[in-house]
Amino acid sequence: MATIFTRIIQGEIPCFKIAEDENYFAFLDINPLAEGHTLVIPKKESDYIFKMDDSELSGLLIFAKKIGLAIEKVIPCKRIGITVIGLEVPHTHIHLIPINAITDMEFSRPKLKLSNDELAGICEKIKQAL
Ligand code: 5GP
Repeated sequence: MATIFTRIIQGEIPCFKIAEDENYFAFLDINPLAEGHTLVIPKKESDYIFKMDDSELSGLLIFAKKIGLAIEKVIPCKRIGITVIGLEVPHTHIHLIPINAITDMEFSRPKLKLSNDELAGICEKIKQAL
């Protein structure tokens, strides 16, 4: 069965898409730790980042770099934190999170409650910075 992220790529489940190319896809996390919290994923399903082959993994990181630099341009922060967890969704994804302190990467913190309008505005700003 397709993962929830494959269903997002295929447009079956809506998302705030930031960018895609032939192999990779970036969209806003629905329960963000910070404004601009973005997920970057390979289109080819893989349940664990270390199972990806080297060229796919390096391509994912290079795609994430482009997205991270765009987020940094429009979301005030010290830098973009990057992490991989994958305990909830078994489809490899990199979290890109604007941070000002180490605690901003703490996933047990309460998530932001952003409206669809707010998420759409953030998405649009990041897209324009690409
Ligand atoms: P992880 O697998 O790394 O522990 O967490 C999965 C992440 O995916 C979470 O931050 C969660 O908010 C996000 N997520 C789960 N389902 C959806 C969804 O349907 N849409 C979006 N945009 N994000 C999701």
